[in-house]
Amino acid sequence: MQPDHGGHASRPSDRVDQPSAASDPVDGAFVPSDRVDPSAASDPLDGAFAPSGRVDRPRVAISSCLLGVPVRYDGGHRRSAFLAEELGPRVEWVRLCPEVEIGLGTPRDPIELYETVDPARPRLLQGERDLSERMRGYALGRIAELRRQGIDGYILKARSPSCGLRDVNLVRRGGAVERAGTGIFARALREFWPELPAFDEDDLEDPGVARARVDWIFTMFRFHRREPGSAGLHAFHRANAESLASLAPELPAQLAALLPPTSAPAPDEERWRNGRRDPDRDSATSANGRTSENANANTDASVTRRGDDSVFERERDREAEYGRVLSAALSRLPG
Ligand code: SF4
Repeated sequence: MQPDHGGHASRPSDRVDQPSAASDPVDGAFVPSDRVDPSAASDPLDGAFAPSGRVDRPRVAISSCLLGVPVRYDGGHRRSAFLAEELGPRVEWVRLCPEVEIGLGTPRDPIELYETVDPARPRLLQGERDLSERMRGYALGRIAELRRQGIDGYILKARSPSCGLRDVNLVRRGGAVERAGTGIFARALREFWPELPAFDEDDLEDPGVARARVDWIFTMFRFHRREPGSAGLHAFHRANAESLASLAPELPAQLAALLPPTSAPAPDEERWRNGRRDPDRDSATSANGRTSENANANTDASVTRRGDDSVFERERDREAEYGRVLSAALSRLPG
């Protein structure tokens, strides 16, 4: 997190005409902390959302400084009493500071966001040091990790060149500074996980908006932890339709149109929660040691499994679409 515009002496605007050449993210393990290698970044979409287990509270990622952790560039923090004392006991926090996790120390020189010819790829500079690709690579891997952790929401520090969702100071190519940027980590979160409830602490200043944002997280938490399959989605819909109608009268009908048939087969729960295909199901042979004399039986089994897979994938798609519509509607409240 940086000061609202630090008046930095060195603004290499002559170096920001072109975004740096970023390599596309490729599969790879999340590399934490100071050993970040952007070239080994994970594809965030590869991290299947996996709400693991039946936890009794939402799991919420948060910019560490908002909980009083002294990770800001000046060694300070921006503790929010509401978050730490009121919301804290009702959720399970996943604290993270992108700048510390890419290996920057505390305290550190401030970082600023610089415009480039590509509005989607501003540069993140610490003086003359370009941290853009380091932060982007880290963000992709960390988001994949958060998907695997099954977080239900994310509360971000406002106006940070890393965490800020909006109104971040952006140094224009001509040198002027405008509150027109989005932090690099926050941008990746929005791009690769648009349905995740995410907002900044400025939203908590208005009690009505704060209530709506917290409700957003809790509703999506119930959605994520519903029972598997069409029965679980129908049960979620029945249990929440009345409260959703009080927020947005047209929403229950809109969501009802996305419900799968009640006759849809119950899925394997572990597979449903992991959201992954079973690789054994794509092959009639090999992994379980079947032999050639079983080829016909294997082929039949393979066809059946592929049929199961297509039903499974179709139901997952419908449920995911239901979640996207629900989250998007809640994100717009209060309207
Ligand atoms: S990078 Fe994010 S979490 Fe870290 S100090 Fe800045 S705003 Fe806070």
